[in-house]
Amino acid sequence: MGSPLSFSFELFPPRTPEGAAKLPSAIAELAAVGPDYFSVTHGAGGSAQEGTYETLVAVVEHSGVEAVPHLTCVGSTRANIAAQLERYRAAGVKRIVALRGDLPAEATSASAPGEFHYASELVSFIRESHGDAFKIQVAAYPEMHPQAPSPAVDFENFRRKVEAGADGALTQLFYNADAYFDFMERCGKAGITIPVVPGIMPITGFANTVRFCAGCGADLPRWVRLRLEQLQDDKPALQEFGLEVVTRLCETLLRNGAPGLHFYTINQAGPTLRLWKRLGLRAGAPTLA
Ligand SMILES: Cc1cc2nc3c(=O)[nH]c(=O)nc-3n(C[C@H](O)[C@H](O)[C@H](O)COP(=O)(O)OP(=O)(O)OC[C@H]3O[C@@H](n4cnc5c(N)ncnc54)[C@H](O)[C@@H]3O)c2cc1C
Repeated sequence: MGSPLSFSFELFPPRTPEGAAKLPSAIAELAAVGPDYFSVTHGAGGSAQEGTYETLVAVVEHSGVEAVPHLTCVGSTRANIAAQLERYRAAGVKRIVALRGDLPAEATSASAPGEFHYASELVSFIRESHGDAFKIQVAAYPEMHPQAPSPAVDFENFRRKVEAGADGALTQLFYNADAYFDFMERCGKAGITIPVVPGIMPITGFANTVRFCAGCGADLPRWVRLRLEQLQDDKPALQEFGLEVVTRLCETLLRNGAPGLHFYTINQAGPTLRLWKRLGLRAGAPTLA
């Protein structure tokens, strides 16, 4: 028997009063299928610290499911990061997604202001200051981080995060299962054994899917892009097609060794739950039927 699969749902701190009003019901609906945890993103440049904390509190209030903050470090000071870690520890947080975060406009990682430049430095800092008090998840890029000069250099940087003490990784969204399997093969050759959970973005539209992929450097296969474009004025047909494409992706991943799935919910229960149902995942102890 291998380790149990891990299923998690990502939320972001709502940016509008309407978004805040809808969040509790989305959390409750998603919680009903028994995820391992909800993670909550953290805005670029340290701008949304309060939002992350408030959303964590909302998760606990409306679901009782483990709530996991993302923590970004670029542009931040050691004192500021230390204060956030203390606050999370006091609140009973057991796991953190440790990230660099998006760079301020026109900065490079090395030139960005602040005392941290890479996620590996944040991972080291958490381990030095809190030992094993937190499980640490980091980001992985099967199709390469868009600012990296090459897949090999990016992989070395991933390895640095693992050596600094990451317990697991969540991937950037992707629609090519082979990119994930290639990444896992490289992990195997490098002796990296931490679980790398695929990040899954449900497909709900043409324009937003193209934008998400362009924003993070993910390849949207030509045939998928063309079909979405063709179906963009027929929402039910587009959503059915998107559901089928992402269901097949998830099935391929799970049947070939992926240790779970991390869903980018965009604070909407519907698309993720439709996928969950189509995959035949069972509440509480998810396994493929
Ligand atoms: C699962 C997931 C969750 C995310 N959540 C958030 C969030 O909540 N908030 C947010 O703002 N963003 C979030 N992001 C986006 C993320 O912050 C960006 O992708 C960011 O550009 C890189 O973050 P990282 O932690 O992967 O950085 P790093 O691992 O530091 O890598 C960044 C770049 O620097 C390079 N690099 C790393 N170390 C070195 C080094 N020592 N020398 C030279 N180059 C190096 C890497 O190859 C890469 O190109 C998330 C991404 C993922 C996949």
